[in-house]
Amino acid sequence: MFAAATFLPTFLTAPSPSSWTLPASLQSLLELFPPFVLAVPKKKTSHSRKAMRSANKGLKDKHNIVHCPACGSAKLAHHLCSNCYSQLSRGWKAEQRQSAEGVSP
Ligand SMILES: [Zn+2]
Repeated sequence: MFAAATFLPTFLTAPSPSSWTLPASLQSLLELFPPFVLAVPKKKTSHSRKAMRSANKGLKDKHNIVHCPACGSAKLAHHLCSNCYSQLSRGWKAEQRQSAEGVSP
């Protein structure tokens, strides 16, 4: 602890953290953290390096595409068919509109 006190700033070696306050002489965040704390990349990542890193992050092929048993359009397995759902929701919205018109007058 005493060895660390030689190179650490005085506010880091304060005895109680509950009474810690920002030093009045603090001009920027760089004074709060010593330079060896900040991690900075040594070299700029080139476009080629970035492209090589993200080459294996692309879209994967889908193997779980099946035909909807109701309408026959392609859909994901174990998912709701979007074609059938749009037909159902159109019907539900029409029913809601009719019931709202029936209640309001
Ligand atoms: Zn369907």
